[in-house]
Amino acid sequence: MNQDTNRNTRFTRREWRHFVDHMERASTGKTPDNHRVAEMGDAIYYAGKSIPQAARQELKKTITPNIDDDARVYLERGEASIPAIIIDDEQARLVDIDGVGKHHPRKQTARYRHFTVREAVMWGDRWAGPSGSVEAWPAEYKFTFTGGEPTLLYDLIRSQDGEAGISLITRALAKARMKPPLAETTWADRLGRTNFSKVWGIRADYVTPRDQVSWLKIQHRNLRVAASGGFQDTKCRVRGCRAEENQEHLVSCPGIQRDFWVSVAILMNHLGMSVTNNSKTWLLGIKADGSQVSREEAAIIFWAWRCLYAEVVRARVENLDMNPSKAYANLVRMAYTRVKAYGAKWYGWYSRQHRKKNAKVIPRKHRDKKLIKTEASAEYRISPILSDEFKRVCLRQ
Ligand SMILES: [Zn+2]
Repeated sequence: MNQDTNRNTRFTRREWRHFVDHMERASTGKTPDNHRVAEMGDAIYYAGKSIPQAARQELKKTITPNIDDDARVYLERGEASIPAIIIDDEQARLVDIDGVGKHHPRKQTARYRHFTVREAVMWGDRWAGPSGSVEAWPAEYKFTFTGGEPTLLYDLIRSQDGEAGISLITRALAKARMKPPLAETTWADRLGRTNFSKVWGIRADYVTPRDQVSWLKIQHRNLRVAASGGFQDTKCRVRGCRAEENQEHLVSCPGIQRDFWVSVAILMNHLGMSVTNNSKTWLLGIKADGSQVSREEAAIIFWAWRCLYAEVVRARVENLDMNPSKAYANLVRMAYTRVKAYGAKWYGWYSRQHRKKNAKVIPRKHRDKKLIKTEASAEYRISPILSDEFKRVCLRQ
């Protein structure tokens, strides 16, 4: 669907992967996960292939740009493409675009009739790029995930709060592919009647979007495991276990039970959480009494799935036995560092504003928690249960 303006052909899959990689680096400053880049690049490629011909024709048209006062444009000549704002019938004010896409006026103006004027595509108050360009495309054309509202790719790529990018896109794509009714009936067949509105309503404290991917996929029955195909064998990689590695098995496997889920349940009980070592709780977040897990309980289960699945993948990629104890140690480390970051965040917030007039204190609902206790003045103390467990399993070696 994307038109490279220089040659008028659609992007190949490989080019889309480059594009995703580029956007991800630009928005997070980090090197993205190759597998996700490939997955996302391919997803956009196939989404693009399904754009109707008429819409594609529309893209090729030369558009008469808006040159009203205050219009945002790019002035193009040769290789140059200069962002500017129209100020009158003749002149445009040149601007610089900063790293987050906002403009800053220069002193300089230019007579725009000496240039090809192309409209700027805006995403809110940010400059996405010249209309029809590769950079602007995600903010210029909406596409529809199956069963969803038309969405700008930009809205998915650029998130306001920290970890962004591919994880959000994958989540949106996963959601589109999730087919809740099928997941619901299949889970109900295996685990008994379930109120799924409670499952879909689970929210968690402390977690990042990426922390949530594995468990959300489990809930929607689309976590990729050996039994999903594509691997050399479909067996569980715990030593001595020759069962099929499917999604339920990650909870019922005797080895994973013994060295992972039992420890998770004990830790949660010590933290004062009322969960039992129960398949329905780990898979769907529904407790024995039918209630859904709390926000802090959900956080632990999100991390549990993230760390367990990372270990599943590691064992498969390195062709080694799976080590569930290692996944448990990683879960404890992740819980400890995330909770600590949460405390530091409130402490930073409080320090910045507590000398001001009408200074606020930390709201009570953010203070009285099981994993961390915070005073109104933002002094915080991570649960000694959690920090002792962190010392025991992570610092011992
Ligand atoms: Zn097993």
